[in-house]
Amino acid sequence: MSSFIFPAPAPTTLPVTNSTAVFPVGRVYCIGRNYRWSQDEATSPEMPAWFMKPANAVVQAQGALPYPPSTDDFCHEIELVVAIGRGGRNIAAAQVEAHHIWGYAAGLDLTRRDLQQQAKRAGGPWEAAKAFDHSAPCTPLVPVTVCGHPKQGAIWLTVNGMERQRADLADLLWPVPELVAMLSRSVTLAPGDLIYTGTPAGVGSLQPGDVVQGGVADIGQFSMTVGNTNHGPSITSTGDSP
Ligand code: MN
Repeated sequence: MSSFIFPAPAPTTLPVTNSTAVFPVGRVYCIGRNYRWSQDEATSPEMPAWFMKPANAVVQAQGALPYPPSTDDFCHEIELVVAIGRGGRNIAAAQVEAHHIWGYAAGLDLTRRDLQQQAKRAGGPWEAAKAFDHSAPCTPLVPVTVCGHPKQGAIWLTVNGMERQRADLADLLWPVPELVAMLSRSVTLAPGDLIYTGTPAGVGSLQPGDVVQGGVADIGQFSMTVGNTNHGPSITSTGDSP
C-alpha cells in the first residue's frame, strides 16, 4: 500500500441540523442567473450557466468572513443550497427529489465582482472571481426527511440590518429538479456534491466590519462579520515540500 507524501487533507464537512453526523462535501456547483432581476427582463429559454468552487471554499456560515485579497468589490449572493445524497448521470428531473437530494441549506456565493467583470470583458474564466478561499459559506444542512423539498418561502439578506436581497423560492426560473438533471447530463453527480442555485436581485458590495445576515425560510439563517483587508504576514500552507 502506498503512503502519502504528506498527510492527506481531511475532507471538508458541514454540520447537519439536530445530528452529530456531518456531511462530507464533494464538489461545489454554482448556477448562474436563476432569478429575474427586473420585472421587464426577458427570460432566456436556455438553462443557466454553471461554474464551480473547490470543496474547501465551503465554510460554516458563522463568525468572521475574511475579506479576500485581490479585490475592491467583494459581493454577496444569497442562495438556496442543494445537497446531493445519491449521485448519477442523465438523471430524469422527475426522479431528482425522490432519489437524489439529501438536504438543503442557505449559502453565500461570494464574488470578487471586479474580477468577474474583467473576466466577462476578456471572455476569460471566472475562477479568480469565484473560486477563492472561504468563498462559499453555508448553514448546517437540513435533511429532506425534516424539511421536505421547499417550493416557496423567503430568501433574504441584510447588511448592517438593511435589506439588500429578498425574493421567494417560488421565483426560481429553473426549479431544483431541472438544475440537477441539467448538471447530470454534463457530469456524473456524486453523494456530497453541493449545488448553489443562483441569487435573486440586490447583490452588492461588502465592506470590512459589515454584519451580513441572511437565510432561507424554514431551512437556515446566519450572521457573519466581514473581516478587514489586512491579510497579515505571509503564511506557508502545510503540505508544501520541505
Ligand atoms: Mn451566484
